[in-house]
Amino acid sequence: MDKKYVYLFQEGKASMRDLLGGKGANLAEMTQIGLPVPPGFTITTEACNEYYSNGEIFPEGIWEQVWPALAEVEAASGKLFGDKKNPLLVSVRSGAKFSMPGMMDTVLNLGLNDDTVEALAANTQNERFAWDCYRRFIQMFGDVVLEVEHYNFEQILESAKEKQGVRYDSELSAESLKWMVIEYKKKIERKTGKPFPMDPRAQLMEAVLAVFRSWNNDRANVYRKINGIPHEIGTAVNVQSMVFGNMGSDSGTGVAFTRNPSTGESALYGEYLMNAQGEDVVAGIRTPNPIATLAKENQEIYQQFVDFSKRLEGHYRDMQDIEFTIERGKLYMLQTRNGKRTASAAIRVAVELFHEGVITKEEAIMRIEPDQLEHLLHRRMDTDAKLQVLAKGLPASPGAASGRIVLSAEEAERLGNLGEKVILVRTETTPDDIRGILAAQGILTSRGGMTSHAAVVSRHMGKPAVCGCDALKIDYTQGLVVIDGVEYPHGTIMSIDGATGRVIKGEVSMVDPELSEGFKEFLGWADEISRLRVMANADSPTEASNARDFGAVGIGLTRTEHMFMDPERIPIVQDMILAQTLEDREDALAKLLPMQEEDFYGILKAMQGFPVTIRLLDPPLHEFLPHSEELVVDITKLRMSKADPGSLHDKESLLRNVRALSELNPMLGHRGCRLGVSFPEITVMQARAIFQASARLLKEGYDIHPEVMIPLIMGKEEFIMMRKLVDDTAAEVMSEQNVHIHYKVGTMIEVPRAALLADEIGKVADFFSFGTNDLTQMTMGLSRDDAQGKFLPIYLDKKLMKTDPFVVLDRDGVGKLIGIGVNLGRSTNPKLGLGICGEHGGEPNSVEFCHIVGLDYVSCSPFRVPIARLAAAQAAIKNQGK
Ligand code: PEP
Ligand code: MG
Repeated sequence: MDKKYVYLFQEGKASMRDLLGGKGANLAEMTQIGLPVPPGFTITTEACNEYYSNGEIFPEGIWEQVWPALAEVEAASGKLFGDKKNPLLVSVRSGAKFSMPGMMDTVLNLGLNDDTVEALAANTQNERFAWDCYRRFIQMFGDVVLEVEHYNFEQILESAKEKQGVRYDSELSAESLKWMVIEYKKKIERKTGKPFPMDPRAQLMEAVLAVFRSWNNDRANVYRKINGIPHEIGTAVNVQSMVFGNMGSDSGTGVAFTRNPSTGESALYGEYLMNAQGEDVVAGIRTPNPIATLAKENQEIYQQFVDFSKRLEGHYRDMQDIEFTIERGKLYMLQTRNGKRTASAAIRVAVELFHEGVITKEEAIMRIEPDQLEHLLHRRMDTDAKLQVLAKGLPASPGAASGRIVLSAEEAERLGNLGEKVILVRTETTPDDIRGILAAQGILTSRGGMTSHAAVVSRHMGKPAVCGCDALKIDYTQGLVVIDGVEYPHGTIMSIDGATGRVIKGEVSMVDPELSEGFKEFLGWADEISRLRVMANADSPTEASNARDFGAVGIGLTRTEHMFMDPERIPIVQDMILAQTLEDREDALAKLLPMQEEDFYGILKAMQGFPVTIRLLDPPLHEFLPHSEELVVDITKLRMSKADPGSLHDKESLLRNVRALSELNPMLGHRGCRLGVSFPEITVMQARAIFQASARLLKEGYDIHPEVMIPLIMGKEEFIMMRKLVDDTAAEVMSEQNVHIHYKVGTMIEVPRAALLADEIGKVADFFSFGTNDLTQMTMGLSRDDAQGKFLPIYLDKKLMKTDPFVVLDRDGVGKLIGIGVNLGRSTNPKLGLGICGEHGGEPNSVEFCHIVGLDYVSCSPFRVPIARLAAAQAAIKNQGK
């Protein structure tokens, strides 16, 4: 049998998303569960893919399947395509497997021509309506299919309004609309050299072609790239009989979510417009009414809609985003899909669906993208901040942002890429603005509702947005906005609060978010399911308590060098480094000891009950000294001014030392445990500070678990030497203080050789923590400091690498070494603790790898702890039974 390219809605199934696209599969499913869906059929994604692989030629035999399907639609609707008495009109819409709202093309009212328009007028007894449909169709077909730019039609529309002396499109008379149709057709013929096609079948063929072509347009490509949607999956095309929401006051159209997409609250949430066509609601041209008022306008239809929505949500077991049309008092369901939502709504919906018995905990966990949680951890406006509220719009996407206002997407993109914070201000946004939206901190529009393009896209990206702010008048030509008669030129700093819709003058101070009870419950389920524990990288008591609040069960890395950077301590640290004798160095260390003791005391106390892994000093010592270029400048100035010879001498000697300590390759140089090998007294001071702090805390009754970590070892020899210093110091402190401290000594695995010799090292270490920042650098021979800014982007662009290995762990190479390290380490020490503390510990894909390779924990920055907890649970679910 020939390949099947065309499926009637009643032939498809929800499981055929790959072939029918999300929209096609849903239309089929809705038809099957008995909802009133206008009849239609879907041309498969396979046809689109073959179109591209054939060199942009339709697959053979496709039309032989389309025409019989169209005949079925004719039969079901009781209308005929191109008929002069009772014409069938269709919509032609794209629909890929994953929803790409507004990115590809759509044509409505297809099948209209100079004859069928008359029939439509006669059948509806509404000449104005019929000609309005016709002019909309020519405009859309002209724009999308024939590629005649939109402004050509806008100009004609404006002159029609001017000629008739009216302000709004809806006031145009049938005569004006007829005149527009003539002008539109003339324009198209002038621009394309061909008359507008009158044959409905030719129209259909061209429209299908245009949808296939739109798969490859610029904005669709950008959208796919941002959202990780593969290019090869293609789009399906849905051809569906038209129903009209603009047939008079008993007709209408709308979109609704079964739950609130901003907050997740379980209540129907949406908007509609009477006497309007679908695009009017989403395009944000007229501000629509909230769905609740439909109950007053038409109780029966409203109730029917509520019932259908419940049925759809129950069927798909998730919050739905539904499009509907009322044609002369009859309700039609046009489309349903899983609704896009903010991160906090996503969690509330998942938690409530579990409590309603609709989904399991595991399903709830799998419903949230870990990276989405980042949006929840975003800042909001400080309630105490003094705000100069200029205007209020709709709270379209939560979060708050400050920045310079810019009035074009191009400008937003340009400045955003230069690192400027900007707020993109537009009357409304269109899919063409996507790059600008991406680069802006927030979006502000003067028109459009909660389901306008700007609102939907911002919520999805987790960007603050305020929409439909009527008080805002935008003057693009002058480059300014006017609010209450006051002009604000572009570049003025403003703030928006997407949670309340406020537009505020100037910059506003922000505060950290608090996590909802639902969020905590949800992450509690994640912890029940996951095997990996999640710890944090934290260097201060405040960071430690933040990490606890986010659910960290310990600290996997304290970088002690951050404590050395304190401005008050730097001179002492420099004395320690520059000491010429052991005695001088010990003097400096004696001053540092009580400070370090206080540091460790604070962190261990904040994390009581959980392990705290303290890493001994790691960076090359020159990092604590001034730059030689700066010293040269100082010395030159001192010489010129003939100032105090003492300070000149000090600077000169400092410069000599700085030069002596400088290395060509410091990251492969005198750092990590190599410092302790050269200057054991530094290691001893740090160990003493840790154990003295621990002894105090134990005496005060705290439950503490210090773990000392040795960085950058190459093999067991260094580790044994360092461990002895730590153990001896611990023994000394314990006997001085007369307490027993339970502690561990482990090592980082950051040098490939250490991973290869992990069996030997495992015999003498209590734990390994994979330092995947350095391990990536050394395994791949890529500088972690330079590669990202230089040639890595080229590698990514040329697809030599899928992802940046400093962000997503390189499973093939670095991961292989980790696997070797884990297996060898456990082979000699079954009790060996195993974790990761490189940046990868908070990145979902890498967390999954850590689960698979058998680590015990991941450690990441405090703000990524919730993300890692969720990723750990998902890893456990995805890899069940493996
Ligand atoms: C690492 O190398 O992965 C690590 C955690 O240490 P640092 O980033 O401090 O070098
Ligand atoms: Mg390191």
